Amino acid sequence: MLAIMAVLAMLGLYLHVPFCSSICNYCNFNRGLFDADLKARYVLALEAEIRRATPGRADTIFFGGGTPSLLEPEEIGRLIDACRATFEMAPAVEVTLETNPETSSRERMERFRAAGVNRISFGVQSFREPELKRLGRLHTADRAVRAVEEARAAGIDNVSLDLMMWLPQQTPADWRESVETLIAVGPEHASLYLLELYPNAPLREEMARAGWSLAPDEDAAEMYLWSLARLDEAGYQQYEISNVARPGRESRHNLKYWQDGEWLGFGCGAHSTIDGVRSRNVASTDDYIGRVTAGQPASVERRVLTREERLEDALFTGLRLTAGLDVEAVGARYGEDVWKRFGTDLAPFVAEGLLIREGPRLRLTRDGMLLANEIMAVFV
Ligand code: SF4
Repeated sequence: MLAIMAVLAMLGLYLHVPFCSSICNYCNFNRGLFDADLKARYVLALEAEIRRATPGRADTIFFGGGTPSLLEPEEIGRLIDACRATFEMAPAVEVTLETNPETSSRERMERFRAAGVNRISFGVQSFREPELKRLGRLHTADRAVRAVEEARAAGIDNVSLDLMMWLPQQTPADWRESVETLIAVGPEHASLYLLELYPNAPLREEMARAGWSLAPDEDAAEMYLWSLARLDEAGYQQYEISNVARPGRESRHNLKYWQDGEWLGFGCGAHSTIDGVRSRNVASTDDYIGRVTAGQPASVERRVLTREERLEDALFTGLRLTAGLDVEAVGARYGEDVWKRFGTDLAPFVAEGLLIREGPRLRLTRDGMLLANEIMAVFV
C-alpha cells in the first residue's frame, strides 16, 4: 500500500504539441497546421517553461497533441532532458509519445527510443479505409499496421492504439472488423472512444451532404459491450470506461487523472492540477511563445479548488475505473461522509445493477458504464 501511495504522490508531466499535418474534420483539440519555423520557436519556449518550473518528483512524461510525432527525435530528446534537469525522475519513468501512423518509420522510432521514449500511442481510429477517409485521416489501415511493426522493430515494447466507434456509416460488423485487426496487431494497451461531434464540426456538414448517418443508440451500446467482451477473451483487462490493457500495461500517466493524482501541463492550453490548485496555460500558440519568451508565466488562469470541488472530482473521475473507488478513503481525505451525502441518490443505480457496492468500494458494472454520465452526475 505504501508503495502505491508513493507512486501516486509522483507527478505526471504533460507536454502539449499543437501541430498537425492536416486538420481532421471532427477534431476539437487545441491544434493548428504544422509550420517548421513556428515549431522550432515553440520547442524553445516549451523547454524554457519546463526549466523554470518548480522542481518535484515525477514518474511519467506524456507528449500529447496535436501530433507530437511531428517533432524531430532530437527535439523530443531536448524536452525530455529539460524534464530530467528540473524534476527528479523515477528510475522506471514512463515516456509516452502520441504518434500518427503516417509520421512513423523504423528509423524515426529508433531515434525516439534513443531520445528516451518508451511508450508509443498510435492514433489509428479505424482499420477500415472508408472510415479513415470519412474522418479525413492521412494514413491507411495498412500504414497503421506497418507503423506498429516499425515500433516493434525499433524495440518499443509498450504500444497503445486508439480506435473510435460509432463513426458515420459504421455498422456493428465494421466495428468488429477493426477490433479483430487490433487484436491481431497485438498492442499492450488500447483506448476505445465514441466519436463525439462538437456543434460546428465540419464532419457534421459532410455527413449532411453525403447522407451519412450514425448507427442507432442500441447498436452503439452493443458495439461497446461486444468489444469489451472480445478483448477480455483476447487477454486484455478493462481498467477504465474506455481503456483496456495487458496486465501491468495500464497507462500510468492517465491513471493520475483518474486516481486523484497531480500533474503539471506544459505548452499552450495545458492544464495543471497540483496541491489543490488548478491552472491553465494560454491557449494560442503565438501568445504562449510570446509570454514565455518575455519571461512571463504561461498560465493565465489559476484557481484554488474548494474542498467540495476536490471531493467531486475525486468521485467523478475515480468511478471511471473498473476497480471503482474507495469511497470511504476519498471521504476521509476531504472530510465528508460520502454514503450519508450521496447514498440515497446512488441507491436506485445499485438496485438496477448499474453500480456495485462492495464494502467501502463503489464501482460501475459494464451496463453502468453505458450510463456513466448520468450516474456520475449524482456527484456534481
Ligand atoms: S491528428 Fe489528432 S489533433 Fe490533429 S487534427 Fe487530427 S484529430 Fe486533431
